[in-house]
Amino acid sequence: MNTRNKLIPQQQPYNQQLKDCLLRKKKITLVVRREDVIHKHVSGNKFRKLYYNIIAAQDKGYDTLLTFGGAFSNHIAATAAAGKELGIKTIGVIRGDELGDNLKQTLAQNPTLKFAVSQGMRLHFVSRQAYRHKNEPDFVANLFQIFGQFYLVPEGGTNELAVKGTEEILTPGDKEFDYICCAVGTGGTIAGLINTAKPHQKVLGFPALKENFLHKEIAKYTWSNNWELIRDYHFGGFAKIDKKLIDFINMTYTLHNLPLDPVYTGKMLYGIIDLIKRDYFPAGSKILAIHTGGLQGKAGMNLRLAKKGLPLLIEG
Ligand SMILES: *Cc1c(COP(=O)(O)O)cnc(C)c1O
Repeated sequence: MNTRNKLIPQQQPYNQQLKDCLLRKKKITLVVRREDVIHKHVSGNKFRKLYYNIIAAQDKGYDTLLTFGGAFSNHIAATAAAGKELGIKTIGVIRGDELGDNLKQTLAQNPTLKFAVSQGMRLHFVSRQAYRHKNEPDFVANLFQIFGQFYLVPEGGTNELAVKGTEEILTPGDKEFDYICCAVGTGGTIAGLINTAKPHQKVLGFPALKENFLHKEIAKYTWSNNWELIRDYHFGGFAKIDKKLIDFINMTYTLHNLPLDPVYTGKMLYGIIDLIKRDYFPAGSKILAIHTGGLQGKAGMNLRLAKKGLPLLIEG
């Protein structure tokens, strides 16, 4: 018999309404959907994006997942944990061949990769130059040469099956909201939200990187134009962070007991609050912000912040 092991939510996502004087003054309802709690290690949108890919991999008879990511990637950590939980082998192709030169030292300095290895993931380091060609047939053929058969999950996990998963984030009760907001990396999460938002709703994406390709990427997976990218809150680029953002994330944790990650959700919420201050949203608006998870990235970011002499993120 063909047994399938599916990812199972450890906790149902719930709504957390934020309340403070700014929101009262501007008459804005701001609710955070705590998707981050869905699984301790396959958190937030990575659970959604892996869900149907893992089912497809098993149905096609694969016993190994291979995917790609940077050294602090939430997707790498999530894939490793999902594989461990479901008895599927995992291979992570990691950007930066210098990281492979002294693996022991790398793992000592990188909580994400250390975690991935602890979950049984096999790491394969490639140069930044080679990594750029990861979607090309020759590069993939070479991986098949090295590793044999595997089910390939793209970087960030975004493909059609991932979008099928992120289409399950919104629930019928969410029709009361006027705006749905989320952080954007590769666009798979916002695509699912766009496809399931109601006609009266607008989906706002906050890219976590400086980019000019996302609009086209997202359009590939969607059939509606009820959305917009707000490009002013990437803080200089992917995983770039400054004291203002650190203070905001720590203050949000202290005041609202809401943990945010520094790469995605922290920038999104910073952007939403700034737009509220600037009266972007009409009084009476109801906003739903999706917490896509990613909190595992805090530990690695703190090691970098300590080196730079910046304040640290509170780790909840
Ligand atoms: C990966 C990730 C995103 C980006 O999701 P995409 O589907 O790639 O746009 C957003 N938030 C968090 C916390 C993530 O880990």
